[in-house]
Amino acid sequence: MTSVATVEIDCWALRHNLARVRESAPGTRVIAVIKANAYGHGLIRVAKILQQAGSDAFAVARLNEALQLREAGIQQPIICLEGFLNSTELYELARHDVQVVVHHANHVAILEQQRLSEPVSVWFKIDSGMHRLGVPPQSVAELWQRLTACDSVKALRLMTHLASADDPRSEQTQQQLKLFADTTKGMAAEVSIANSSGILGWQQSHGDWVRPGLMLYGASPFINGRGEDEGLQPVMTFSSHLIAVNHFKRGDPIGYGASWCCPEDMAVGVVACGYGDGYPRHAVPGTPVLVNGQRLPLVGRVSMDTLCIDLRGAAGVNIGDDVTLWGKGLPVEEVAECAATIPYELLCAVAGRVAVEVIN
Ligand SMILES: *Cc1c(COP(=O)(O)O)cnc(C)c1O
Repeated sequence: MTSVATVEIDCWALRHNLARVRESAPGTRVIAVIKANAYGHGLIRVAKILQQAGSDAFAVARLNEALQLREAGIQQPIICLEGFLNSTELYELARHDVQVVVHHANHVAILEQQRLSEPVSVWFKIDSGMHRLGVPPQSVAELWQRLTACDSVKALRLMTHLASADDPRSEQTQQQLKLFADTTKGMAAEVSIANSSGILGWQQSHGDWVRPGLMLYGASPFINGRGEDEGLQPVMTFSSHLIAVNHFKRGDPIGYGASWCCPEDMAVGVVACGYGDGYPRHAVPGTPVLVNGQRLPLVGRVSMDTLCIDLRGAAGVNIGDDVTLWGKGLPVEEVAECAATIPYELLCAVAGRVAVEVIN
């Protein structure tokens, strides 16, 4: 035992969750989304496991992520979701056979100007209502024409992204699906629409290729959802150790700002994990942690290297005991709710100093 915060990465759970993607969207091909260091799980590690498990393709956000995958010997199709900034980036992407998302008229102009020795595969992204990245519906016909005529383009496919698929009651998803279908009518091309919430909640969005991110890592993409309810298993378990057990009097304040005071004489535990490890500073008092399998509440403010917990009612707790911050036995979704955020942010934010243990 060492006093470092650790993430355990469970490769079995990752493979299980990929199988859940296949069950949920039968007949589609899978683009595993592994941007942002595979949501904190390790870009190359996750790519290798999913490559072996038969993921059809990978998606990353940026050029440098795509190049890291190629350097590590990943040979599957890779899609760069943010496209390219200029002709230099386009050239690099093409040279490494990375597929590009064309989400702006500017991209079409660069493709037309650039004489690529190797043409690129293009995902033409339509803004069906999210209003983030994508070409507006009224420009689609003209830009599609130009892309089909462009020598720098080989395969041409269609995509869009859903803004509210995490909310089963939202009408926006139906509106987006309809606008996308209307806009692309008569265009003979494969289609990709669904992220995790599309895969699990909107069968109409499955198309030819699905783009799961969060569900691969075992968390639910739905508001107030739990991965377990979707048959998913957590891949990451974030843990550390109890490094002190202290006894205080009623009224004694705990931690920075003295924002929390002991309501009675009591024991307080100190855990070697803080926002410097990626634990959210905004987690409120009462946020659960697990010590030897017992749920105990956080107290006071989270600091850089430590957080404090209420040991009232805890049986047989000692310095050195394992503390689970999220993962097996404690859903990351629940911790995210206590910190007014989403599981995506917590998983991505695990810091570089955190040790990694891989369970094969
Ligand atoms: C990140 C991302 C995804 C994956 O989304 P999840 O909600 O994590 O499944 C899919 N498509 C695009 C365009 C993305 O940016």
